[in-house]
Amino acid sequence: MLLSKLTLSIALYFLFLATAAPVVASDSGNVVPGENVLSHLTVQQQLAELDEIRLENLPRFRAELARIRELKLTQPEDIEYFTLLTAYEFALQGQYDKVLPTLTPLLNPSSNSVFTTRAQLMAVNVLFLSNNYKLGFSYFEQLIDSIPSITDPELLANVIVIVMFTYNQLERFDLTLLYERYIDFDTISPKMSCLIRATSIDAKYQQHDLAFMEAEAGNVINECIAAKQIIPANLVRKELMRAFINDNNHKRALSFFQQHIEEIQQIQYPMLISQINALAAQAHLEEGYLKKALFLADKALEFGQASPNNIALVEAYDVLYRIAKAEQNFQQALAYLERKQQIENEFKASKTSQQIAYHTVKSEIELKNQRINLLDRDNELLFLQQSIYKEEAKNSRLMLILATLIGTIALVLAYRGLTGRKRFKLMAEYDQLTGISNRYNFNNQAKQALKHCQAKHVPVAMILFDLDHFKLINDQFGHATGDWALQQIVLACKQFMRSNDIFGRIGGEEFVIMMPGCELDKATLLAEICRDAIVSIDCNSNEHQFSLSASFGVSGSEISGYDLKQLLADADKAMYQAKAKGRNQVVEYQQTEH
Ligand code: GH3
Ligand code: MG
Ligand code: MG
Repeated sequence: MLLSKLTLSIALYFLFLATAAPVVASDSGNVVPGENVLSHLTVQQQLAELDEIRLENLPRFRAELARIRELKLTQPEDIEYFTLLTAYEFALQGQYDKVLPTLTPLLNPSSNSVFTTRAQLMAVNVLFLSNNYKLGFSYFEQLIDSIPSITDPELLANVIVIVMFTYNQLERFDLTLLYERYIDFDTISPKMSCLIRATSIDAKYQQHDLAFMEAEAGNVINECIAAKQIIPANLVRKELMRAFINDNNHKRALSFFQQHIEEIQQIQYPMLISQINALAAQAHLEEGYLKKALFLADKALEFGQASPNNIALVEAYDVLYRIAKAEQNFQQALAYLERKQQIENEFKASKTSQQIAYHTVKSEIELKNQRINLLDRDNELLFLQQSIYKEEAKNSRLMLILATLIGTIALVLAYRGLTGRKRFKLMAEYDQLTGISNRYNFNNQAKQALKHCQAKHVPVAMILFDLDHFKLINDQFGHATGDWALQQIVLACKQFMRSNDIFGRIGGEEFVIMMPGCELDKATLLAEICRDAIVSIDCNSNEHQFSLSASFGVSGSEISGYDLKQLLADADKAMYQAKAKGRNQVVEYQQTEH
């Protein structure tokens, strides 16, 4: 739910970039796509036309803008308008780094105030989209401050829509709805009314049920279609489809998808296509249509790759992971799961940094205001404060240099000490037959990792495995063959481990893998992969012919906590279950509990 809101707001951001044009005088009537019908208008009118069509026909917007670029613009207001649309085009292509430099002349307060507000709006959008929340929020606060001075109702609505979006993103739905009340719907265009209502629908859904969502979404969609706002209409459709899925009504979601997918594809808005396909993939999977789900998930990835922070990628990888797992293709499943978690973590991180930036900017602004008040009253204080700040800055730079220096020296010393004792340590800590950690070293490393993970609230998983009927192999083919097999098994499993996994031999033919930062389900997949790798070891290369297998037990901090003994004991219990169930299999500890 949390992620879905985030995405809606990000996906919609560009739609809500300020659209109020300072001069909108056009008599062009119906515009036929592809024909050069704009050229008889004044430049300002042509730009205003372009401003209008950029939400409805992206390819045409680009083509017309390129044409105007060829004209030699001389009027300052034409140049400013063109600059704004050029910045918009960069944003549209994801070239966010070019947007702010392009907008700089407009952000200058001496320029037309409508353009300044629009440039501020775009700056906020782009800075948020490129995860520069700190700067983004400082423009955001400027925008909020400018609200009382905006006289054009349409431009005011533009600013409010961005403010509402931002509050959606911060999950301050109360503020989203509060700002919606600033709007006098009688004074704004049907298009803007559609945008405002599409923005508040998510906030309203937080407070109401699916029935309300359906009715409200239906109205907003109709309103947007009547106002020719096809993208917002379909973004609301997408949210409604998500609401059906959240309500476990997958059939409904699917028929909705089939009804609208063609129209959505025609809009050529990759983020929307990606998201709607990811949702449809989920619904198909839930209904058991694996092939179709796979096809749609791939499509979601294809269209979503270009957009960072795209929830569709998480959802698509989740579908792919579940399909691969169901098909027992565990290695593939693990790869998908890892990709999914990586993107999901990026999401969470960006969410956290947003919240932090918001609060930082807010308190900085408060501090600044307080300081300005103070300075206004007493000018002397200004000089006093300035010198204090300078001094503080100098001191903190010095501290930083010192800290870096101390850190480097400590590192050098530690490294030297390590190389001197390295050989002896290696012998004491590593198992001579297989080269992995012995029981003693495993225990030490594991305890340290557990402490760290517990402090950081990071999960830990434990895999324990014991070879099946190993005694027979020793008995039939001799101890040397048994030793060879142990080495092959370690090699086979090691290739699937990450650098911070701890692999130890804790008994004759008993092994453990501790995986910091890993959840139970992922560890179970890795166990399946290792199990498969052991079965696949080619034993014919040895002079005898036999096969190898092992039984696996998996436990994790989610169930067993962070105590090493408990984790081992629980993994051991699960491993014995695997033996009892016929060997050569993986059992998760939770399955053994009743
Ligand atoms: P199970 O499936 O129940 O585990 O059957 P198992 O035969 O593997 O039974 P158990 O785990 O009790 O057997 C352990 C055997 O592992 C005993 C010993 O012969 C063999 N073993 C232990 N350490 C080594 C070693 O370093 N080298 C060799 N070659 N064999 C070892
Ligand atoms: Mg054993
Ligand atoms: Mg055994």
